Amino acid sequence: MCYTCGCKLPYEDHGDPANIIEDHLKQAGQTDTIDKAGATKAKENLLELIQLQQQAGSLAQPREDYNE
Ligand SMILES: [Zn+2]
Repeated sequence: MCYTCGCKLPYEDHGDPANIIEDHLKQAGQTDTIDKAGATKAKENLLELIQLQQQAGSLAQPREDYNE
């Protein structure tokens, strides 16, 4: 959608690098912290954290830490 504007075009940055696209998630899947687990794992982690924030009603103002 890009991933953020709502367009549902995962590869389209609309000429603005602030729009999150597939390449960002591919890069996020290759960091040392995620142990190069790949874009799929990065997306799963991203989705999990966003869902935790949503369940906590804190999407607008996330807490510092969502570990239990
Ligand atoms: Zn978009």
